[in-house]
This record gives sequence, C-alpha cells and structure tokens, in this order.
Amino acid sequence: MAWKTLDDMDFAGKRALVRVDINVPVEDGVVTDTTRIERIIPTVDDIQEKGGKVILMAHFGRPKGQVVPEMSLEHIAPAVADVLGLPVTWVNSDYGDAVAKMEGDEVLLLENLRFNPGEEKNDAGFAKRLASLGDIYVNDAFSAAHRAHASTEAIARLLPACAGRLMAEELSALDKALGTPKRPVVAVVGGAKVSTKLDLLGNLVGKVDHLVIGGGMANTFLAAQGINVGKSLCEHDLAETAREILGKAKAAGCEIILPRDIVVARAFKAGADSETLAPDACPADAMILDAGPATVDYISGVLDNAETLVWNGPLGAFEIAPFDAATNAAAAKAAALSTAGKLISVAGGGDTVAALNQAGAADDFTYISTAGGAFLEWMEGKELPGVAALSR
Ligand code: ADP
Ligand code: MG
Repeated sequence: MAWKTLDDMDFAGKRALVRVDINVPVEDGVVTDTTRIERIIPTVDDIQEKGGKVILMAHFGRPKGQVVPEMSLEHIAPAVADVLGLPVTWVNSDYGDAVAKMEGDEVLLLENLRFNPGEEKNDAGFAKRLASLGDIYVNDAFSAAHRAHASTEAIARLLPACAGRLMAEELSALDKALGTPKRPVVAVVGGAKVSTKLDLLGNLVGKVDHLVIGGGMANTFLAAQGINVGKSLCEHDLAETAREILGKAKAAGCEIILPRDIVVARAFKAGADSETLAPDACPADAMILDAGPATVDYISGVLDNAETLVWNGPLGAFEIAPFDAATNAAAAKAAALSTAGKLISVAGGGDTVAALNQAGAADDFTYISTAGGAFLEWMEGKELPGVAALSR
C-alpha cells in the first residue's frame, strides 16, 4: 500500500489539520509522561518550515460523545506548548474564528474530538465541519488508525490527505516486518491467552517462516497435544483451535516453536521456588510460568539465521523475577543482532513494550510500536481504516 507523506504536499500559505495522539498519562492534573507529545514534533516543525499553519486534532480518554471536563484538552495544552516550544491556543468552540485569527507560528489545539458524538460515529457532518477549518489533512496518529472515526477516516476523503512523519515511520517499519520482509522471518507471540490472539496467530502462520509461541498461550498448545500442564493458565476449550493452527502452520511450511523446557513454580510471587523441567513434566500442583534456557538457546539459533523479527507478547510472566528470564534473554539476543545490523526487529503491544523496556532492550530494536490495538490489528492482517483512507 502506498500513501502520501508531508513531502508530497505543498503547505505554503496552507492550514494543515493534523490528527495526533496526545493521549498522555495525567496524574492530579499533571502530565507524567510527554513521550507522545514529543513524537509529533517532527511533523509540526516540518509543516511550519514548509510555510503551513498547524491545527491539532486529538482525543483524550473515553468521554463517549459527551463533555467531560476532566478530559478537556485544555489541561494538556500547556504541556503541548512546552514540548513543542510554540504558542499553543486551545479552542473549545468558535473554531472558525480562532482559525481566522491564527498568527505567526501559533498552533491551535481543538477540544477533545470525542466530546462530539459524531467523532466515533465517523459522522460525515462532523468531518465536514472539521475539514472546513483547513486545506490539507495530515494523519500522524497510527494508534488511532484502527478505528474509522470522523477525524481518522471520513475527513481523509474531504481534503488532500497524507501521513505525518510518525505515521510514515510506523508504516514503513511495519511494512519491513510483515509487508515485504527480508526472509527468513521469525514471529514471537506470547502473552496470557490464545483467545485474545487467535486472528493474529492465524495470520502469522501464513506469513512467517518460524513462529515462536510462548507465555501462557503456549500451555494451551502443549495441552492440545495431550501434555499435562498442571495448574498452569490454559484454555482447554481451545485445544481444537490450537490443533487447527498447528495444522495450518504445517501446510504453510511455518515452523512452530513451542517451549523445549519449562520453568514451573507452586506460587506466582517473588522468590517462589522454581525449577526447570521437560515440557511434559509439569507437576499436577504447579504452574508453568516461563520458558527455560534450552528454549532460549533454540530461539537464539533461529534468530541468528533470520533477517526479520516481529514480536508481540512476553515469553513468560515477566512481571515477577525469575519468570522474566526467557523474555529478557531472547530480547537481549534480538537487541544485539539488531545493533549489529543483522536483524530487523519490530515489536509492539502494551506488556511487550514494558517487558522489553524492563529487559533494557527496547532502544536497540529497529522499531518499537507504542500503538497497542492498532499494532495488534495490523499483525492480524486487518486493513486499518485510517491507513486505507490515506492510500493513493
Ligand atoms: P501485550 O500487552 O504485549 O499484547 P499480553 O497482554 O497478551 O501482551 O500478555 C502479557 C501478559 O501475559 C503478562 O501479564 C504476563 O504475566 C502474562 N503471561 C505470560 N506468560 C504467562 C504464563 N506462563 N502464565 C501466566 N501468565 C503469563
Ligand atoms: Mg496486555
């Protein structure tokens, strides 16, 4: 899929309506992490350098079409001004008036789009009202692209549209990982449950050369092969589905890599006694909480011969040591290969990003997506409406 970028547009004397994700964490009225705001700087600066004016559109929280004062972007505006180093004016009504009065490098920040019921309904009227404020539409919010909303989908059909820098960077990283990847491609999928990642597994077995299944969901696959997993987290009702995925992988020539050894404990708490056993040796009163060193060795060997890695979901219950060991070791291996220029590594998912940060490996990955739901839908092979609307 191809999309226009800022380089394809002429911003001189134009007003750009820029959809951004500045849904930052706030505690007691104070923004505690400005990462999301920092990531829009290249797009804002670039549009201004090209002679355009910037009008930011964003959502905050889930107000569900109603005005919820605590979710007003008025509270975020000072942090945006601070991070951008530009005058930022928040506007909650009379948008047209504020736009007409924009001066110099002033940036407008429209009130939380989700206060308007038209936003999440992808309402044509609301999109038209937004579109009337600018000349060019720029989408820099990949994390909102899996939703067809007025500011992500309908508006893109009303104005010349392009991807912002962050969106373009994310799309090209994702394309390198699964769209047109260098082979062999390895996918690591872990996490708690198979049920939340069925579509993802189904899509990946048809696309990658090796699929590592780890975390709690590996237990479901072990159990589906007749192995006793004791008190482990396991979705026994998905045994048939797990066997179908194994069959589909076999037909597609995708190697499925399940734990070759397991780390078990009687309690999921810090300092709990744990032992490393063969995959079929889980005691009836124990839980599998991580993969063991033989599994990590095998994964490392596969990564040594791979060109591309895409990763979602930790290999174990990484929140509590020592059950973070397999995740940390595999992450360190992927990070080292990436730094050496031998592997393209892309990872995403809420807990995955936390786990890779905890492992100290995140900075060395080729690309880390912080997009959560949009990243998962992309891994499932779904078309993202906000991205489709940008394609030329
Ligand atoms: P992401 O948010 O990156 O998509 P998930 O939410 O699917 O990842 O999975 C993360 C969760 O999976 C973590 O809370 C982790 O503790 C849990 N998990 C991983 N392995 C196991 C296991 N063997 N038993 C129980 N929970 C596990
Ligand atoms: Mg999660």
